[in-house]
Amino acid sequence: MRWRREREDKSALTEPRCPFCSEVFERPCDIPTELSFFYGGRCRCGAVYGCDPTGRNLGEVFADTLAFACDDDWDRAKELEEGKDYQIKELEYSPGEHRLLPGGRGYQGIRRARAKLIFLRIL
Ligand SMILES: [Zn+2]
Repeated sequence: MRWRREREDKSALTEPRCPFCSEVFERPCDIPTELSFFYGGRCRCGAVYGCDPTGRNLGEVFADTLAFACDDDWDRAKELEEGKDYQIKELEYSPGEHRLLPGGRGYQGIRRARAKLIFLRIL
């Protein structure tokens, strides 16, 4: 019966769960901010996430996510250090299905850009 267990584990991987608390998270949506909109969401555990639908603007999405985590306080956001002040996890995401793509970095051979989610938790 071992194989059956593994199959279940695999399908569990694709559920949209927060990497910090393992709760299912909501589909990203446009959240109004002071300047424009932030495309992402907030988990029950306090982690926030930003979505990059193209997988090509991660730097920008990361900065927006960090600012969102700091309630739009960019000055505070700039002073935070990864690992010390916050933790970050990057997930591959399928926006159409609202699923995470299993394997993550295992797909490195494929150069196709994928949608990404950046999860960030202030420590
Ligand atoms: Zn969470």
